[in-house]
Amino acid sequence: MKNLLLFGPPGVGKGTQGEHLCRDLGLVQLAMGDILREAVANETSLGLEAKAFMEQGKLVPDSLVVGMIQSRILSLECEQGFILDGFPRNVAQAEILDKMLLDNSIQLDFIVFMDAAEDTLLARLTGRMLCSSCGFGFHRHYSPPSVEGVCDKCSGELYQRKDDREEVISERLEVYKQQTKPLLDYYGAREAFIKVDASADTKEVYSVLLNLVNA
Ligand code: AMP
Repeated sequence: MKNLLLFGPPGVGKGTQGEHLCRDLGLVQLAMGDILREAVANETSLGLEAKAFMEQGKLVPDSLVVGMIQSRILSLECEQGFILDGFPRNVAQAEILDKMLLDNSIQLDFIVFMDAAEDTLLARLTGRMLCSSCGFGFHRHYSPPSVEGVCDKCSGELYQRKDDREEVISERLEVYKQQTKPLLDYYGAREAFIKVDASADTKEVYSVLLNLVNA
């Protein structure tokens, strides 16, 4: 069993790499952004509260996200290990997570910080397209669909996330610098901490990551 935490700036590839790692290592992916987007789509009361924060690129209040992720981490589906991505996103959340894990005798085997230059992040985020039907991700330049606007996997319609528009991206990067980047100090000295340069293409980064967690 392995429990991993992935953190880093928006657009660095946490979701994509987490998805591949989960597939190959038999882990469950707990992506906070996905959990929130599902709540928004289902119009749950938490989703309705979270929506405006997300559309503006701001963090959803801790009081809303903590309960949502806690129930998932402690659920039976995660017994074989999980990859946490997008949580924690500030030091207060990290402290809550530490306590939750300690109280339940769960440990993080790898705390992975992924980083890339800001122009790389911008290029990845602004070109990102998702399938409205199956959720599969494409990129206008790096991995375009065969037919523009149409998913190769299921023929669903592709869309751009509202928060991947340029004006929201700059807010998300600012929020990252002010609130999430301090996690480097919080986790940096731990034995489980590793740093991965995520500026290369998806396959290269994945092979580095896989080697590290299999070492
Ligand atoms: P992501 O898919 O990880 O880019 O997250 C999309 C959006 O969901 C973020 O910009 C935030 O508005 C919200 N969000 C995701 N994770 C968290 C978190 N741990 N705390 C607060 N808000 C979050």
